[in-house]
Amino acid sequence: MFELTFLGTAAAVPSAERGLSAMLVAKGPNRFLIDCGEGTQRQLMRAQLGFRGLGHVLLTHLHLDHVAGLAGFLATRQLYQLEGAIEIVGSQETVAFADRYLSVTIGSEREAGYRLRAVSPGPVLTRAGWHITAVPVAHRGTESLGYLFEEEARRALLPDRLDALGVPAGPERAALVRGDPVVLADGRRITSEMVQGPSTAGAKLAIIGDVQEVASLIAPVRRADALVIEATFLERDAALARSRGHLTAATASRLARDAEIGELLLTHISGRYKPEEIQAEAAGLFPRVRVAADFDRVGVNARLSF
Ligand SMILES: [Zn+2]
Repeated sequence: MFELTFLGTAAAVPSAERGLSAMLVAKGPNRFLIDCGEGTQRQLMRAQLGFRGLGHVLLTHLHLDHVAGLAGFLATRQLYQLEGAIEIVGSQETVAFADRYLSVTIGSEREAGYRLRAVSPGPVLTRAGWHITAVPVAHRGTESLGYLFEEEARRALLPDRLDALGVPAGPERAALVRGDPVVLADGRRITSEMVQGPSTAGAKLAIIGDVQEVASLIAPVRRADALVIEATFLERDAALARSRGHLTAATASRLARDAEIGELLLTHISGRYKPEEIQAEAAGLFPRVRVAADFDRVGVNARLSF
């Protein structure tokens, strides 16, 4: 399971209700900030999440409404004397921008307790049983990235099989859970395959920032249990959406339908529309949709069936 908290759901400019782009993904004690628009540090406090355990910031792209909160956020971490450097991840272009911006505001990596890491589309981070992958995203000529959080498929041990084969509780069963074979007291060798049930899929969470087309995203986000993506415009302003390099709610929901998504979560909400209008346009094509609000929390679990 991944836990997602929306911290800022506004497009381009903040409003009284909506902060600029940021969200937090938690997996056990590991916490990741996705984008860091202006004011994100205060949104973290208001959400009662604080800064602890937050080891990475994953940036989708270099536009100011997604990165301008970094300097203030890092400066506060420094004042609190939080231990351990925080890693800021993004494309080559995004990281080069963050480097220039942070060097002249709070100082170099060594002075200010952060580390920059440029990544290409592909693996970003691997932990036992889950991983993060970056995917390329098209948005106004930027080097943008989306991020996939995925648990690996698991095969649980079957208690009936363990009992029938006489595998005692304790270290033998723990070894089989890890995938290691064991030799019982009577000399029989038992492998994991002999006592495992069928494979069950892990949870998949896809987070895409600003984006101008969705055809290239169908394969990478396919069958995600939750997809977070922008819906800056409505179909009646489709020409404006195209010229600004953004999506309409209908296009976002077409992606969700074509990629067999579990739940569609729309963000980057423009003040020019009522959220109900965005919801209605998207739901016409894909009913499992909601327009995110600041401080919404969503648990992302693997679907049992679909
Ligand atoms: Zn934006």
